[in-house]
Amino acid sequence: MSEPFKLFRLQQVDSQIDQTKSRLTEIENTLKDETELSLAQRNFEETEKKLVTAQKGLKRSEDEVEAVQIKIELNQSNLYGGKVTNPKELQDLQQEAAAHKRYLTTLEDKLLEKMVALEDAESGYEASQTRLEDTQKLIAERNKALTIEQANLLKDLERLIGERQAAIPSIPSDDLELYEKLRAKRAGVAVAKVKDKTCTACGAVLPHALAQASRSPNKISRCETCGRILYSR
Ligand SMILES: [Zn+2]
Repeated sequence: MSEPFKLFRLQQVDSQIDQTKSRLTEIENTLKDETELSLAQRNFEETEKKLVTAQKGLKRSEDEVEAVQIKIELNQSNLYGGKVTNPKELQDLQQEAAAHKRYLTTLEDKLLEKMVALEDAESGYEASQTRLEDTQKLIAERNKALTIEQANLLKDLERLIGERQAAIPSIPSDDLELYEKLRAKRAGVAVAKVKDKTCTACGAVLPHALAQASRSPNKISRCETCGRILYSR
């Protein structure tokens, strides 16, 4: 195995390790993120509050109607019960009856509004409940899939770290030091493949002699533009 090839292989393993780690972080963040769920939860709680308010509003309206109806019954029994005979009193009772009836009509209109409001609140509540349940289900399914992926990635990572450890001893320490420095400086990519006399990492066209040198099995050549170690098959 040529020296540049050993480093190229190490680079491949390290890039896979980087990708695996970055995906693992992404998964962890997604698993932790509860924005969507708490949004649906909050929405549900709000519609629940509106429903309770609408139920109370309707109950109050019903009570008001009932109270007036009781007053009307009392008025009617006074009016027609025969106990009141005084014409002035009877006239007062008749006027009272008319006032009660007018008030009852107003209250019944209000009651109808409250009934419609309750229906609206009920359908809003049901819709948000369904939305919450759907969200919970979707998130549970997604998290299940992510947990499986996470377990597989952890296995991959373990294997890759093993491969890395196996590759290290055969690489000269100077080369390895250069490699690590370049990895730190060049976004994790220390080794660049040469294709058509071009550094595939930075796109620079290599001088003919350098392109030739990059084929050497024993010597390490570096791109003059980005400084990366060149590997050419
Ligand atoms: Zn380059």
